[in-house]
Amino acid sequence: TPKKVVMDAAEIDRSLTRIAYEILEKNKGVEDLVLVGIRTGGVFLAERLRRKILDIEGAEVPCGILDITLYRDDLLLANKKPKIKKTDIPFSLDKKKVILVDDVLFTGRTIRAAMDALIDFGRPRSIQLAVLIDRGHRELPIRADFVGENLPSLLWEDISVNLIEKNGCDEVVIEDS
Ligand code: 5GP
Ligand code: MG
Repeated sequence: TPKKVVMDAAEIDRSLTRIAYEILEKNKGVEDLVLVGIRTGGVFLAERLRRKILDIEGAEVPCGILDITLYRDDLLLANKKPKIKKTDIPFSLDKKKVILVDDVLFTGRTIRAAMDALIDFGRPRSIQLAVLIDRGHRELPIRADFVGENLPSLLWEDISVNLIEKNGCDEVVIEDS
């Protein structure tokens, strides 16, 4: 099947650099900031943002992990349900400005579940969302605060976000099915 490269390694890196600056600009620095990556891609992206923020500001931002899986209880795409599996957030989120990080934003169901899960860790002052790809097709009133690239996609298309940490190279690809 034909594939189309929509972001290469340099483009991914520049996007993340821009997002790191945007996060710092919007929040006026790192005070009370925490990053929470959504497995698996979002965790690697959150870690990269943490390192970029460290380079730019010279300050450490805590980084946590949320593990949420979408399962489908029938053949309808719209019936995918998120299930919280495991979380690793070894710090309180009370009064923190939480930056949720994911690779792809699609229907918004994962982020909705993530927000529910986060509230169990204390009462954050705010929750902001950073994603590498916004592919559209939202089914909930959810939007990202920081977006690498808006990539209007067909419902059945699959966008592969390959990252060095798990795939050996950085590349965003649309697979035609
Ligand atoms: P949503 O819950 O918004 O429908 O889907 C978002 C979640 O599913 C994210 O965690 C994301 O990793 C994954 N996802 C949805 N669509 C795609 C896609 O086209 N490509 C990839 N790589 N992940 C997707
Ligand atoms: Mg995911």
